[in-house]
Amino acid sequence: MEFSEPITKIMQQTPDVKSFRFNRPESFDYKAGQYILVTIPVGEEMVRKPFTLSSSPTEKDHLEFTKKLTGHEYSNVLDSTDTGDILKIDGPYGKMTFEGEYDKIALLSGGIGVTPMISICKYCTDLKLDTMVTLVSSNKTEEDIVFRDELENLENQNKYLKVVFTLTRASSEWQGCREYICENLITREIPDFKDYLYYLCGPPGMVKSVESMLENLEIPDERIKKELFTGY
Ligand SMILES: Cc1cc2nc3c(=O)[nH]c(=O)nc-3n(C[C@H](O)[C@H](O)[C@H](O)COP(=O)(O)OP(=O)(O)OC[C@H]3O[C@@H](n4cnc5c(N)ncnc54)[C@H](O)[C@@H]3O)c2cc1C
Repeated sequence: MEFSEPITKIMQQTPDVKSFRFNRPESFDYKAGQYILVTIPVGEEMVRKPFTLSSSPTEKDHLEFTKKLTGHEYSNVLDSTDTGDILKIDGPYGKMTFEGEYDKIALLSGGIGVTPMISICKYCTDLKLDTMVTLVSSNKTEEDIVFRDELENLENQNKYLKVVFTLTRASSEWQGCREYICENLITREIPDFKDYLYYLCGPPGMVKSVESMLENLEIPDERIKKELFTGY
């Protein structure tokens, strides 16, 4: 489906991450984990890039996507938009979705790869599903953690949701995990890890390394879903 909508809200999530909201057309249906294509004018051209919806299908009034600001052309144009500016949207696309079909899911994300994961976490919480969800969000520093407050709130509301933040360049005050997503972290945080369905999202290098780690843990391919944020 293609449509154009004015931006209704812009939220600075971290120093280099912003969320953009707009009204959800009544006929726009999507699954948690799916992405849209967002077209904006960059110089003389109209440029289109994919972004996962960080909103949940249970949020009926708005759609939201969240962009890591890179300082490049498209990013700078999007960063300079204001409420009222029009976005051209096409979608939804993508197969890394969740609709309540599994009992236990592990969501493993690197950096901005958390966008489909928050959609799935909100979906499970809003629908009061008893799906066991463990989200591991890996970031460089504490200030890079996207949706920290929102995820902690969801965790407080949903007894089946566990959120683990791990930092690769943590300050000395950080009390949490300080490692890349690794076999140790998985087996420690998800003792019954063999029973889980895995969702991986982030930069291609991160997704590939987590995939080979899951292979070492003898998780079959058919229990792994992934979305690679190519383009970085
Ligand atoms: C299915 C899918 C879903 C996605 N969802 C999201 C999402 O939810 N949030 C999100 O932030 N991103 C998402 N992405 C990635 C997104 O589409 C963009 O590719 C990304 O945001 C980078 O776009 P950009 O225009 O900022 O950077 P680009 O200009 O495309 O730059 C990307 C990289 O290219 C290199 N590069 C480009 N130009 C230069 C230059 N002049 N000099 C040196 N290096 C350069 C750099 O390494 C840079 O980091 C998704 C991608 C896919 C495929």
